[in-house]
Amino acid sequence: MNRHFEASNANKSSIGMSWVTCYVGLGSNLENELGSPVEHLQQAIVAMQENKQIRAVRVSSFYASAPMGPQDQPDFVNAVVGFETTLTAFELLAFCQLLEQQAKRARLRRWGERSLDVDILLYGEIEISEPQLTIPHAGLHERNFVLLPLRELAPELIILNKPITDYPSSDDWTGLKLLKLN
Ligand code: AMP
Repeated sequence: MNRHFEASNANKSSIGMSWVTCYVGLGSNLENELGSPVEHLQQAIVAMQENKQIRAVRVSSFYASAPMGPQDQPDFVNAVVGFETTLTAFELLAFCQLLEQQAKRARLRRWGERSLDVDILLYGEIEISEPQLTIPHAGLHERNFVLLPLRELAPELIILNKPITDYPSSDDWTGLKLLKLN
């Protein structure tokens, strides 16, 4: 599917859409009554698996990462999920925001702790630059906690005409640890 075709589909209704390969980034560092950070990620993954407009869900390892903003907060748990979807990019954004709300996300401060963050990293090969939706995700290129798990899922991926392996952060373990889940 070429980029123009996909871009022209980005806004319209998903009826009649073909399956588009997407990647989303998950992050959490706040426990609440609905679960721990690992459980928030797991609940979001189950919701993706149960969505009829999403198929072929693949999940990276879970990583612990040092916080990007204020340092007086717990480490984050991060993972990347890849799947195919018939949702348009904006419908997928609405679904991601619903998952955040379901985790009772409270935003305490900028770059601060949160029960769930769901970002669309890539939607096929399209590029979108609008206030409410930027794809590829704005921070994708320099964030190792996104690029490492993304590379694990898709080692041959091309991002903006460059192989993922050419992005130095895709091989930078600074502040990252692989999480062993029971
Ligand atoms: P955050 O604080 O990271 O959760 O950012 C939330 C805001 O980013 C929302 O208002 C979204 O509309 C916007 N946004 C822009 N691009 C994206 C993207 N690729 N994925 C998710 N949210 C996005």
